[in-house]
Amino acid sequence: MNNQNCCSSMHSVKLARQGEVGLASVPRPEPGPDEVLLRVLAAGLCQTDLHIRNATDSRTPDGTTLGHEIAGVVEQCGEAVTRWQPGERVVVHPCWSCGVCAACLAGRQNACRNTGSRLAPPPTPGVTKDGGMAHYVRVPERALMAIGDLDPAIAATLTDAALTPYHAIATCSTLLHPGSTTVVIGLGGLGNLAVQILRATSATRIVAVDLSDKAIEAARPWADITLRADSQGFIDSILAMTAGFGADVVLDFVGTDETLRTAAAIVGRYGAIRVVGLSGGTLPFVARSARNALPRGVTVMCPYGGTYADLAAVIALARRGAIRPLVTRFALSDALQAFDALEAGRIRGRAVLIPETA
Ligand SMILES: [Zn+2]
Ligand SMILES: [Zn+2]
Repeated sequence: MNNQNCCSSMHSVKLARQGEVGLASVPRPEPGPDEVLLRVLAAGLCQTDLHIRNATDSRTPDGTTLGHEIAGVVEQCGEAVTRWQPGERVVVHPCWSCGVCAACLAGRQNACRNTGSRLAPPPTPGVTKDGGMAHYVRVPERALMAIGDLDPAIAATLTDAALTPYHAIATCSTLLHPGSTTVVIGLGGLGNLAVQILRATSATRIVAVDLSDKAIEAARPWADITLRADSQGFIDSILAMTAGFGADVVLDFVGTDETLRTAAAIVGRYGAIRVVGLSGGTLPFVARSARNALPRGVTVMCPYGGTYADLAAVIALARRGAIRPLVTRFALSDALQAFDALEAGRIRGRAVLIPETA
């Protein structure tokens, strides 16, 4: 390969076709007028990437470069870019919202209205646009946020693994007062950070729940109580610790029939259920109090990503050491091994791909 080719092509992890993700050699992208070209320093690997690899109903087009958790350094700015300079270290907000609709102006960028349909979220790198599992990625300048001297592998995970639980927690902030109880079900990459964020930002009592002793151990430093979900009398023990009232907040990072049934059985009156894990479960609701599994006043929400203010908040928490994402690093060229390890449940914390420098 001659020198020019070596500088104008790069490797990327692409969805080749449904069921197949592979490494490809592709041209280095050119930034548009209001875009920035980032040299990727780290790209997180998420259950969503496994879903995209395996799905039959994915909205991700064939040929898309995966990777929605991106940290990098500004390499080149489009001609209309005014806010960034080459050399600045940044992360990429995963909701590429329009910035000018009523929702965006109100600071609700994850509810952006300029997406073409009621059900469609804003464009997301690695899902509907080319993402960060590559040496370079082009991104809209308004999606960037500075990270200073944060470790890029840690910073990358903030954009989803920390942002999403932070936002879910922010939607029930009034319930996290002293004397309240919050149950976190599922202590993988996001659930572990949910426990850390609750500890850093609230006075609620934190009950951390999983089926894996390893996951429970990893969350223990920040939890008040840890429980195995399959322990004898699990639901009764949560009711007992809340004097029969139930939990004020239940954060479900699994989202199966079983975890949603559990959430309904342990939530208290006027409590909150936030469903972040999307495993196809059903939460039963009957519009009649005598037959409804849910106590009166409970709110249920399936939040999406987070706002730009939420990302700024998790960056600030990480910079002062209040949250510490656990990462396992892989070279970008070992991406497929990382996918397989995540699928087999062999990753501690978040898997992060690091592009090799030429
Ligand atoms: Zn994700
Ligand atoms: Zn908008």
